[in-house]
Amino acid sequence: MRIGAHVDPADPLDAAAARGADAVQFFLADPQGWKAPAARTDAAALKASDVDIYIHAPYVINVATLNNRIRIPSRKLLLTHARAAAEIGARALIVHGGHVNADDDIAVGFDNWRKTFAYAEKEGGLPLPVLIENTAGGDHAMARHFDSLARLWDAVGEFGAGFCLDTCHAHAGGEELLDIVDRVKAITGRIDLIHANDSKDTFDSGRDRHDNLGNGKIDPELVVAAIRASGAPAIVETPGGIEGQSADIALLREKAGN
Ligand SMILES: [Zn+2]
Repeated sequence: MRIGAHVDPADPLDAAAARGADAVQFFLADPQGWKAPAARTDAAALKASDVDIYIHAPYVINVATLNNRIRIPSRKLLLTHARAAAEIGARALIVHGGHVNADDDIAVGFDNWRKTFAYAEKEGGLPLPVLIENTAGGDHAMARHFDSLARLWDAVGEFGAGFCLDTCHAHAGGEELLDIVDRVKAITGRIDLIHANDSKDTFDSGRDRHDNLGNGKIDPELVVAAIRASGAPAIVETPGGIEGQSADIALLREKAGN
């Protein structure tokens, strides 16, 4: 079982060692910006490391939107990040499912996801798996409620899209964590990564505020059960720096180990 943490991009391998993490996730560029990733001086070390590397795409990316001033750059930036992530030996690139606006036809959003994968194929293909992550908020999201997720997967499944299950987002988004792995897998056929987070907010609040495991509104046993049932690696995206994340990792190892 591989367990790790979302860390500062400055020195991910040092951050992994400090937390006793088998895996790290980080951003390659400002998550609120549109800049392409700069080349990393530690690329060779990251590639050679035993620590599994996951890259999170910027939050500004929304390939589903009908606004083409956001959708087209999103599509391109996603591919740019996929290439940069592959260059440092990352196992996958994680990106949020995105959303359409209230007045938009949600069906077009799903089709825009299909077009995103088709675009990447036309440009030479994705050099690593892209994992679509479920999100907590919004009424017109692609991957908040699982009825939407099913429609999304009808559009992207054929391209080999991967899935990242965030436990905070599921809870706050209004999807029960009990037996969640079975319900996801009935739709996607796969879970590639678990984001193992507690939630500061109540069920179906639509809010996205992560908490340390056992500190928030989620029974940590449900997070552990999801990791176990999925067999997927887990990344904590929790607060508290080295101390907080080390405790979360230790809790998961103790309860989910073996
Ligand atoms: Zn997440």
